Amino acid sequence: MAKVLKLFTYPDPLLKEISKEVTDFSKELKSLTDDMFKTMYENSGIGLAAPQVGILKRIVVIDLQEDDKKVPLIFINPQIIEACGSTTFEEGCLSVPGYHEVVKRKKDITVKFQDLEGKEQVINATGLLAICLQHEIDHLNGILFVDQISQLKKGFFKKWFKKNHSE
Ligand SMILES: [Zn+2]
Repeated sequence: MAKVLKLFTYPDPLLKEISKEVTDFSKELKSLTDDMFKTMYENSGIGLAAPQVGILKRIVVIDLQEDDKKVPLIFINPQIIEACGSTTFEEGCLSVPGYHEVVKRKKDITVKFQDLEGKEQVINATGLLAICLQHEIDHLNGILFVDQISQLKKGFFKKWFKKNHSE
């Protein structure tokens, strides 16, 4: 049975680490992605990267749940090999609960990745999937969406965080 994992949240220093390449495509990888999906659905997210549950491996799961349809996608060792255009979207993150901000991203991307069997795949993504993939791949490189906003907005974020997390 899949289990809900503990989410690591800002400003946990683990979220700034660079995740390691996956080389072991055994059964444990599948069960970890099952747990990641369960954790993501439980928290009403549309994407989750392994470092968000404290595992520094290059694993991303996404399910945009558009039209209430579940299409679970798994990306092992994803890499953006082409990107063009630009777009903006108000993003949120399970590691920065309660905060939303507009982030500028590439509009269309081509991503190379491996599936659960270790087979190499390529996907062309646009729209919400492209945005979500960029957000999640950033996590693998220790980057949060609040690192991708302007200096001014970062100031707002820090104030917001202080106000909401002062003990
Ligand atoms: Zn995130």
